[in-house]
Amino acid sequence: MNKRKLTKKEFQERQIIENKKFNKILLISFSILIVLIISVLVFYTYWCDTKYAYRQYALYGKEIPFDLVCMNGNNLQIHESSKESYQGKVYFLCSKACYNHLVNHFRQDAFIPDAFSGDTICKADALIGLKNRGEPHVVYFKNKKTFNQYYESRR
Ligand SMILES: [Zn+2]
Repeated sequence: MNKRKLTKKEFQERQIIENKKFNKILLISFSILIVLIISVLVFYTYWCDTKYAYRQYALYGKEIPFDLVCMNGNNLQIHESSKESYQGKVYFLCSKACYNHLVNHFRQDAFIPDAFSGDTICKADALIGLKNRGEPHVVYFKNKKTFNQYYESRR
């Protein structure tokens, strides 16, 4: 009788220990899952910003693809800018408002001095580069020669 009681007690204790173990595993798995979900959310939320900040450094001294800039704001964009034709040339702009601004102030907006030589050039025909490392502002160049001279002079 006494022996039997003990076994029952033992069995109960074993069950309690097993339940505790199971709860621990459950808690750990759940915590890992939560951390994983948060990481993915943070990654997706800040992915564009991270890429944008990275480009402000990585693209310095390199030719910037047209679709990464707004030719009205003269800056690097977080998202791709859209291609707009005007008077037979293609311009890249971030929004409809910037397109309208370019059209309404065409002389001032579509033309700009080469950042090295000072020659007036049309943005649609220019090479584009970052003005300073780590900043979104862009400058325009007539050709590869003035482009290289600009970055060589700033070393
Ligand atoms: Zn714009």
